[in-house]
Amino acid sequence: MKRTDVGLDRRALLQGAAAIAGLTALSSSAAASSTSTSAPNTVPHSAPHPTPHQSPIRIYRGGTQQAHLPALHVHYPHDATVTMKYVREDADEPDGCTVRGDEETVRAELSPGAGSLEMGGVTYGLAQFHWHTPSEHLLSARDYPIEMHFVHQDDAGHTLVVGVWVRPGLTNRALGRLYDHLVSECSTADHVSHIDVGALLPRRHTSYRYDGSLTTAPYTEHVQWVMLTEPITASPRQIDRFRTMFPTGNRRDVQDITDRVVLTDRGPR
Ligand SMILES: [Zn+2]
Repeated sequence: MKRTDVGLDRRALLQGAAAIAGLTALSSSAAASSTSTSAPNTVPHSAPHPTPHQSPIRIYRGGTQQAHLPALHVHYPHDATVTMKYVREDADEPDGCTVRGDEETVRAELSPGAGSLEMGGVTYGLAQFHWHTPSEHLLSARDYPIEMHFVHQDDAGHTLVVGVWVRPGLTNRALGRLYDHLVSECSTADHVSHIDVGALLPRRHTSYRYDGSLTTAPYTEHVQWVMLTEPITASPRQIDRFRTMFPTGNRRDVQDITDRVVLTDRGPR
């Protein structure tokens, strides 16, 4: 009997997690016909969680739940003009132009409509991408030298972030071109043309998905996280260019996973 109870609890938990990951087809097929006018993967965005759902987290491969996740359809531009901007958090400080805050970064902004991602029938526009060093999400005990965040929003204002780990290896040409334009703090934005944004993603789009938050203030929750399981590579020299800019790092510490389940479609090894 006890075993049955545990099984039910586990299923309920997984259904909750599945809904968060945009898995409405699986978790709400019975109710789907009566709610066809609402957004297909609506999560109750205003309801506070009983426990914090903050990001980043440490992902334990053994602790993830294998699931059939809605596919990612990525439509990133291959010849885009992006605007490189330094994201500043210490504008009030007299030495703010030289101090590197751990919530600061350089980001690449795209013009509206330039790139998008479709998941579970919802289209999310790619607004910007940026970098953290070392990585914010940890994979078991390890971190990566850099983590990229591709920040998307749908028409209703829901945020979805695709995270990509960067490991040392072959040169990434697109990343190298962007890092040629790493604007320093308090300098003006820089426009960079002919960027292959699609080349900043790995070939395989299997992922770890969970419900989290922004990793900088105001740490807003109900952010859908899609951490791609496969890292991209950049040359050690390219990695050092970003690291040199943030010598003490610009990542947030890992947060408690609380009651969340990380779903994955990476498949058995
Ligand atoms: Zn970020």
